[in-house]
Amino acid sequence: TEPKIKGFVPLLQSWESFYTRNVYRRIRDCWNRPVGSSAGAYIDVIECHSDDYNWSLELTSKQYHVMNFGSYNYLGFSERDGPCAKAAIQSLSDNSIAVSNSRQELGYTHIHRELETKIADFLGVEDAVTFPMGFATNSMNMPCLVGKGCLLLSDELNHASLVLGSRLTGATIRVFKHNNMTDLEKKLKSAITEGQPRTHRPWKKILIVVEGVYSMEGSVVRLPEILELKKKYKAYVYLDEAHSIGALGPHGRGVTDYFGINPKEIDIMMGTFTKSFGAAGGYLGGSKELIRHFRVNSHSSIYAATVPPPVARQIISVIDIIMGKDGTEEGMKRIHQLAWNTQYMRRKLQEMGFIVYGNKDSPVVPFIVFYPTKLAAISRKALEMGLGVVVVGFPATPVIEGRVRLCMSASHTREMLDRTLGILNQLGDELNLKYSRKSLPVF
Ligand code: PMP
Repeated sequence: TEPKIKGFVPLLQSWESFYTRNVYRRIRDCWNRPVGSSAGAYIDVIECHSDDYNWSLELTSKQYHVMNFGSYNYLGFSERDGPCAKAAIQSLSDNSIAVSNSRQELGYTHIHRELETKIADFLGVEDAVTFPMGFATNSMNMPCLVGKGCLLLSDELNHASLVLGSRLTGATIRVFKHNNMTDLEKKLKSAITEGQPRTHRPWKKILIVVEGVYSMEGSVVRLPEILELKKKYKAYVYLDEAHSIGALGPHGRGVTDYFGINPKEIDIMMGTFTKSFGAAGGYLGGSKELIRHFRVNSHSSIYAATVPPPVARQIISVIDIIMGKDGTEEGMKRIHQLAWNTQYMRRKLQEMGFIVYGNKDSPVVPFIVFYPTKLAAISRKALEMGLGVVVVGFPATPVIEGRVRLCMSASHTREMLDRTLGILNQLGDELNLKYSRKSLPVF
């Protein structure tokens, strides 16, 4: 028999079971997600869903071959063949699958140096340092930047890796409304005047943490305004470009390229290699002094193995192609194709009556479903019709803002886009997903 505990804990438990039964059950189908077994424009997926209470994933036996609108393969470089895959295979025979050691323990080879020089050159910053995992690039390095006595201002929609990293710093964290400059300025203003009268600034450092493109919203960070606030309040900016590097800007160099801003104005440029580069890992870019600080002090530099050489080779080849150093127009072709596909999809979905979120140039294209109970049906029906899309619901979004999210890729052909639009049009009619202004649901 369980010991009886009086007070707050049983109250919490009964609240939790009430909540679980009455809310989670109704929306559990939001968690239906396809599981990918390969990348590219098409994907083989096995349907999976969470069971009622323990959230464990239960795989069903159904397997589908579908058009892949779920992966962040923005430039289509996550492909089985092609020049980058060939270079990675070659590297596997020239080197090995892994160096099995950290930067400070002989794990830093000529390939890593080449990769870091290339990425710094691509970003337009003085230096860069790389890590084998994007998530850990944020979560393990942020504590190296700020600590107790510092203030961290974080956008409310920041990724889990940034949230974890922020918490690990030990700094005071304040969250500002998504992309809301009035709220950010209000928080900056109150932060520097707090505890008055004072003769000195109350914080050792103030760090503003934002993303380039927000992966649930499809919004683009208001970078020019953030940089003005940074100067005005003498703060630092940490920019996560996981979804914007390669995917945004006329040369694919992310939000700074998009807004025509000098990348050196950003203190810390972070990004991942899992998306536009079709590989794995992450980077930090900035001044020589700052990058040296990460190389020497970061836990992930000291205690974690470096990027596997074939992965590094894949990334180097992608950068060369994007920058046109391979002597072809392939990189620019893919950047233009992604921009075209994105704008085409957004426009057509809007014309059909879907409520599409985000910036017109963002390759993340979410449309709102409102009713969480519809998400599972959309996911399953889409799979059956040959389309793989990610459906996202509570707690990743507010309960009534469940959404279908399409991630665009340069490898989607016009024929695939039109077929997808046809499927979504049919689903939109069948499941009542199209809303005119008058028919918007009232909650
Ligand atoms: N930052 C952001 C904004 C992300 O969306 C993600 C993952 N999608 C990461 C960091 C972590 O990157 P990775 O998946 O490469 O570990």
